[in-house]
Order: sequence, then C-alpha cells, then structure tokens
Amino acid sequence: MTTAVAVPFVNLNRQHEAIVGELDEAIDRVRARSAFTLGTEVDAFEREFAEFCGTRHAIGVGSGTDALHLVLRGCGIGAGDEVITAVNTFAATAEAIVMCGATPVFVDVDEWTALIDVTKIEAVITGHTRAIIPVHLYGQAVDMAAVLEIARRRGLKVIEDACQSHGAMLDGKMTGSLGDAGCFSFYPSKNLGAMGDGGIVTTDDEELATRIRRLRNHGENDERLHVESGFCSRLHGMQAAILRAKLPHLTEWNMSRVEAASWYDHALAHTAAARPATRPGGTHVYHLYVVRSVQRDKLRARLGSKGVGTGIHYPVPLHMEPAFASLGYARGDFPVAERVTEQILSLPMYPYLRRDEVEVTAHALADTT
Ligand SMILES: *Cc1c(COP(=O)(O)O)cnc(C)c1O
Repeated sequence: MTTAVAVPFVNLNRQHEAIVGELDEAIDRVRARSAFTLGTEVDAFEREFAEFCGTRHAIGVGSGTDALHLVLRGCGIGAGDEVITAVNTFAATAEAIVMCGATPVFVDVDEWTALIDVTKIEAVITGHTRAIIPVHLYGQAVDMAAVLEIARRRGLKVIEDACQSHGAMLDGKMTGSLGDAGCFSFYPSKNLGAMGDGGIVTTDDEELATRIRRLRNHGENDERLHVESGFCSRLHGMQAAILRAKLPHLTEWNMSRVEAASWYDHALAHTAAARPATRPGGTHVYHLYVVRSVQRDKLRARLGSKGVGTGIHYPVPLHMEPAFASLGYARGDFPVAERVTEQILSLPMYPYLRRDEVEVTAHALADTT
C-alpha cells in the first residue's frame, strides 16, 4: 500500500499557476525572437538581477556550480591553491573548487545555525589559501563581517555561495553583494528557480565580470577573439525570460516562506523537534526549514507514513563522502557537523504552503503513538 501524499516536500505548481500568463508571454517572446543563447533576455535579466542585489554586474551562466567554478577561475585560482568552505554544504561547492584544480579545505559548523563556524576559519589558513566560500545555508547569511575581516587581513578573496539565499539580507545589504562575488543557482526548487538549470554571478569588480563573461562563452572577447580557452556555460534565453517573469515576485514569495516558517515555529512548540535558529542582523528566506531532533529517523518515518514529504540537507558531511576521500579527512574531524547531520530534518517549505498543511505536519511530529 502506498501512502497518499498529504503535504509534498516541494510544490512548484502553485507559484507557476499564480503567474501562468506572465510565463506563457515570456516563453512566446523568446520563441518569436529566437533569442535562445545569450541575447536580449539574458542582458535584461542580468541588469535586473544586478539591480535587485545592488551590485554593478551580474553574469548569467549555466548553473550555480558553474557560477562558483567560473568565479574561482576568474580570480586566477587553480592547481596548488586551497579554498576554505563549510563541511556541511551541498557537494557542488566543493566540486567547483576541484573543477578549477584547487583543493577544498573544510571547516566545522555552528551547532545551532549549521552555518560555517567563523571562529574556526583562521586556524586552517596556510600559505596556499586563496579564498573563502561562505555558504548562506538554508537561506540565512553567514557572519560576513567576521569572514571579511579575516579575508582582508590575510589577503583572501571572499566568494559567497548564495545558491540558497536569493533575497536574504544582512545589515540591509543583499547576500551576493557582500563579498568579492556572489554565486546563485536557479535550479527549479531554489527561491528563484528556472524551468531547468541556470546560475548567475554578481560582483562590483569590473575586471572579474569581464573575465567571467569571456570564460562562460568559450573564452571569446567582444571582438570575437578567443583570448583564452574557456567553457560553454551560458544562461539560456528561455530561462532568462522565465526568471524575468519570476523576479518581481521573489520578495512576495520569500515573505510567504517567512510566514509559513512562523506558523511552524508556533506549531512545533510542543513537539520533539527544535525549530531552526536565526542569527541577528539578517533576514532568513527559508530556502529550507530545518528542524533538529535526536529522534530524527523516527520522526522522519512517522511523517512519511502520514504522507508528509521531508528531506535531509545534507545526509553526509563532505569529508565523509566518497567523492572527497582523497582529501584525507576522517570521521571525527568535524564533530559538530557529524552530530548535526544525524539530527537535521527539512520540512515542506515553498511559497503558498498553507497553514493547514503546516498543522498536518506539526501534528504528525507531535503524535507520540
Ligand atoms: C543548489 C546549490 C548549488 C549548485 O547549484 P546548481 O545550479 O545545482 O549547480 C551550490 N551550492 C549550494 C549551497 C546549493 O544549494
């Protein structure tokens, strides 16, 4: 017997149905102009997204992973270099470091926010360190003042992984505008999602922007000369047009997530699940609503049996993933991340999640049978 889905983990139909006319118009426009690769829609979206983030430049690329990879390359980072990031991020953050030939160096995380523990960054800096990639995990910003202070003092680049934090602010500034560059993913379920893959880099650095524009398009400059060997990683015109239709709704959709989070906060008070911790000074856009419990597996099974979808972000810290075994880390190297990983549970979260769906989820969590 299969359980009927009561509350799916993600539901993208609701946001698409809300703006179906705008999406159809965007798709027709691209077809009518055959503006499929770079072109007018991509140019316009880059301007609009840069304005949204408050940066001088935005460069559309093929994915969030490519955004990270091309920024690292654009900063001249490669073989022999080390790049510091959190051990509990999505694999793509570390993959991008490996893709440019550099070595990922992991840092443990804060017990309650699950964000990189900024007090442990300085200890892993060596003569080979070139950059720090803070990850604004789950939709809230890392303590950037601390990261930037270390980076400025030690001469390192700061590349924000903002793939989960579209629209999240810190001290009145958008994530993606706080470091030397910001990297965003438009994977469909992100806070701003395309109908396929896409990504973008935000930066105030003109030289870096020019370099990434070249790298994403086979190393070709404005005179169509191939000045370096690059990559094929362009944001598609169709995705840019869809993202242009969605961007004006992002703030409202983030507010809808924040409201759902407040319902959860309230409803979870009498359950075995601890609600997520928020840092002061920032806004949380709840890409994910992640609770903590020592009975995580039991709670997850119970939710599943009641038709409530859940996720674990992420089930294995990167130092224990087979893909990164050659880095030489071992179990026990990152005790906080290892403990947190066994207790985290992501509950359904998306714009237009209804209050009754939050209650169904909370009741399933509270059920002691
Ligand atoms: C989604 C995500 C990425 C990668 O994005 P893609 O578009 O799937 O390549 C990188 N880092 C984090 C933290 C993410 O959540």
